[in-house]
Amino acid sequence: MEDAIVLYPSPAIGHLISMVELGKFILTHHPSFSIKILITPPPYNAGSTGPYINRVSATTSSITFHHLPPISLPINISSQHHETLAFELLRLNNPNVHHAIASISNTCTVRALIMDFFCYPALSVGAALNIPAYFFFTSGAASLGAFFYMPFLHRSTNKSFKDLNSDLDIPGLPPIPSADMAKPILERNEKVYEDFLNASIQLPKSAGIIVNTFESLEPRAMKAISDGHCVPDEPTPPVYCIGPLIASDNRSGSDDGGSNGCLTWLNSQPSRSVVFLCFGSLGLFSQEQLREIAVGLERSGQRFLWVVRSPPSKDQSKRFLAPPEPDLDLLLPKGFLDRTKDTGLVVKSWAPQVMVLNHGSVGGFVTHCGWNSALEAVCAGVPMVAWPLYAEQRFNRVILVEEMNLALPMKESEDGFVRAEEVEKRVCDLMDSEEGNSVRMQVLKMKAAAEAAMSEGGSSRVALSKLVESWTQTETKFTRK
Ligand code: UDP
Repeated sequence: MEDAIVLYPSPAIGHLISMVELGKFILTHHPSFSIKILITPPPYNAGSTGPYINRVSATTSSITFHHLPPISLPINISSQHHETLAFELLRLNNPNVHHAIASISNTCTVRALIMDFFCYPALSVGAALNIPAYFFFTSGAASLGAFFYMPFLHRSTNKSFKDLNSDLDIPGLPPIPSADMAKPILERNEKVYEDFLNASIQLPKSAGIIVNTFESLEPRAMKAISDGHCVPDEPTPPVYCIGPLIASDNRSGSDDGGSNGCLTWLNSQPSRSVVFLCFGSLGLFSQEQLREIAVGLERSGQRFLWVVRSPPSKDQSKRFLAPPEPDLDLLLPKGFLDRTKDTGLVVKSWAPQVMVLNHGSVGGFVTHCGWNSALEAVCAGVPMVAWPLYAEQRFNRVILVEEMNLALPMKESEDGFVRAEEVEKRVCDLMDSEEGNSVRMQVLKMKAAAEAAMSEGGSSRVALSKLVESWTQTETKFTRK
C-alpha cells in the first residue's frame, strides 16, 4: 500500500498555503509519499482558497485535496472572534476528520497526521486511529515558545494580559509587553482565551511539532524550547524547524490580470526604489486610516505599490464576508491617484505578494507582520516596517524589531490609529536612513541563511530527514490495528 501523510490545515488561506508548501517540501525529498490534504469549508470569510486549490491540484498530482462536508456553527457568527469560530468549527469537524482518514486508510498506509495548531481536537482522532499526530505551527519558534509557556503564564497571574501592564519574561525571548501578546488571548475571561489555553496544553502531547522557521533565524527561542525551558512541567516533544516554507506563486486566481499589471508597472521602476504596502489576507483599514496612509505616502515622496481594500463593513452581519472591491476615488483623498500616478500604483484587494517582493524594483515592505509575510520578505531580502493588525502580529513586531533587527516599528496611538507623519517618517527611514540600512543588511544576511538552511545538508533539510525517520521509527508503536 502507498504511504500517505495527511495534512489538516485550518481554513485560513495563509495557513493553507504554508501547509501545502510543507506537503511539497516532503514530496521533493521523499517522493514515495502521497499527500492528502483535508479541506474544511468555513461558514465565514477566511480568505478565498478555491482558485489556489485548483491551481495546486492541476500542477502537483501527488497532492490531493479531500473536501470535508460543510458545518454550520451553532453560535452567532457575527458577534465572535475569528479565532473562536475557527476553534469551534474544527472541534465540530472531528467526526468528519475521523471518517476521512479512516477512508484514506482503506487504500493507503497513513504514516502521520499533521495538523494546524487550531485543529488540536484531532489529536484524539490520531490516537483513535493509531496514527502519530504532529502539529504544524504556522508562526515562528518565538511564538511557539510563548504558546508552550502560556499555561505557566496563566497560572502565575489572575490578571488578563491586557491589564497586566508589564513585560513578560518568556524563556528565549526579549521582554514582551503583556499587551503585545496575541490579540485573541489578551482578555482572560473570553472563550477564545480558553481555546488557546487548551490548544497550548495539548501542544506537548503531540508526537512532534513542525515549525515554519529556520534555526539561524531564531536561535535563542529554539534553544530555550529544546532545553525544555518553555514547557516546565513535562517533556518537550521533538521540534522540527523545516522552513522557510513559502509559496512561489500566490496569485489570487480571479484577478490575475490586475496582478500582472502591477508586475509590469514594477518593470518600469528603478532598482530597489519601491515600497510595497500589503496587509495579509484579512487586513482592513477604516477610510480615515486609508486617507492618512495616502497622505503619508504622498509626503514621503517615495515610490510605492499599495494594496487597498474596502474598509470593514459597519453591518456586523457582514463581518465575515469578503469585502467588496474598493472604490478608490471614493476612499482615497481627492486627486491622490492623479498626483501620484508617476511614482505610485494602488492595486485593488490583492497583489501577488511573493512575486512583488522578489521583483528587483521593490526595496521595502510595510507589512502587518503575518508570519508568512515576514518569511517571504526575508527570502526576498526586503527590509520591513512592522504595522501589526490582528492575531499574533504585535508579538511578531516585537520579535522582528527587537530580536531580529529585520523591521522598523510603525508606532500607533493608544486607539491603534497611525498618523500620516508616522507613515511618512517610517517609510523614509526604511528607504533612506542608517537605521533602514542596518535592517536591510540584516535581512540580506538572513536571506542567505535561509538559503543555506534549505540547501543540501542545511538545518531545515536535516530536520525534515529526522521527521521522516520518526515516521518509520514509530511504525511499531503506531501499527494500525
Ligand atoms: N497575500 C498575497 N497578496 C495579498 C495579501 C496576502 O499574496 O494581497 C499572501 C501573502 O503573500 C502570504 C499570505 O497571503 O503568503 C498571508 O499570510 P500571512 O501569514 O502573512 O498573514 P495572514 O493573512 O495569515 O494574516
